[in-house]
Order: sequence, then structure tokens, then C-alpha cells
Amino acid sequence: MFLPELLPFGSKTQVVEGIDEQPGRDGRLLGHFPYAEAVVDQLVPVEAGIELHRDAAISLDAMRRAAAADGVDLRLLSGYRSQELQKSIFFDVKSERNQTAAERAKVSAPPGYSEHSTGYAVDLGDGADPATNLSASFEQTDAFSWLQDHAASYHFTLSFPAVNSQGVSYEPWHWRFEGSADALRRFEPARRLANGG
Ligand SMILES: [Zn+2]
Repeated sequence: MFLPELLPFGSKTQVVEGIDEQPGRDGRLLGHFPYAEAVVDQLVPVEAGIELHRDAAISLDAMRRAAAADGVDLRLLSGYRSQELQKSIFFDVKSERNQTAAERAKVSAPPGYSEHSTGYAVDLGDGADPATNLSASFEQTDAFSWLQDHAASYHFTLSFPAVNSQGVSYEPWHWRFEGSADALRRFEPARRLANGG
């Protein structure tokens, strides 16, 4: 039985075809919360092939300018992903790497369960050190140190720190925007879990 009040705003739990595990009482599947997909007319293009919710895009732009003024080249590697795209990212790589769903879920969210679907999550890289893109070694870059000091001022928060209650692998590059009432509501269950319930 699901407890609707525990679910991220606007989302519903769903069983995912191809994954045997069932969502838990708080709606999480293999650690990940369910997320409703962004409304298309709220998305804006930020760079070639990358869209974000407009509120996140505005804040990211301000953050990147401030970083640039400090000599840090923050690159946007990934933003909004449709559930369809997330599906191929999850299942195609899973089969390529011969992983179980549980193994795969440590590093990638199942479709319907990715923060990227909301349009509020970004994967960031350091233009001065692209070899660290989407790697734990990103934590050694100037970009990451800068983010640790300044991201909160732009309402970006690290979703999956080294130790996280969701049991997801450390992702120093993955940040989510919580600077609007809508974004805050969506990530409330994740924030509550991170803060110990
Ligand atoms: Zn990400």
C-alpha cells in the first residue's frame, strides 16, 4: 500500500516493465523516488540538445556567470530527460553491462524515477577538466569546490552525496534546483529522507 502523502508532488508510483522489484511504501523503487515529467511548455533550451525547466535555467545561468567571474568554467552536461530517454539509458546500458536492475539503479534511475524528468536536475562538468565528467573524480575539480561554496546561493543542492539515505552511488556532478515552490514540493520527500525523516 502506498502512502500518497509521502510521494513527491504530482508523481505516482509505478511498476516498471522489466524490473521485478516493486515500489516501497514511500513510492521508492530501488532507492529512487518517482517523479512526474516536466510540462513541456515549461522547458527552455539552454544549450544544443539540453533543456531545463525555465526556473532552473534562469538560476543556472546566473550561477554559471558567477562561476565564470571566479575563473570556473561550469559546463552543463545533461538536463531534462523524458521518461522515454531515461528508459533507454536504464535498460540499454543495463543489458550492455549485463547488470541486474538493482545494480543498474545504483548509478541510474529507472524510468519514471529520475530527477532529470522534472527539468530541475543538472549534471555539471568542469570545462577545464572534461576527463572528470560524470565521474567521482569530479569532486577534485575547481568546479566542484566552487559549487560546494556557492551552489546553495543559487538554490542548487547535491542530490546524491557520498553517503545518502537513498542508497544511490555518489554523484558529485548531479545537482537539483529547489528554488521555487514547485521544485521544493517535488523534492520534499527526498529532502525529508536525507534529513533523517
Ligand atoms: Zn544526473
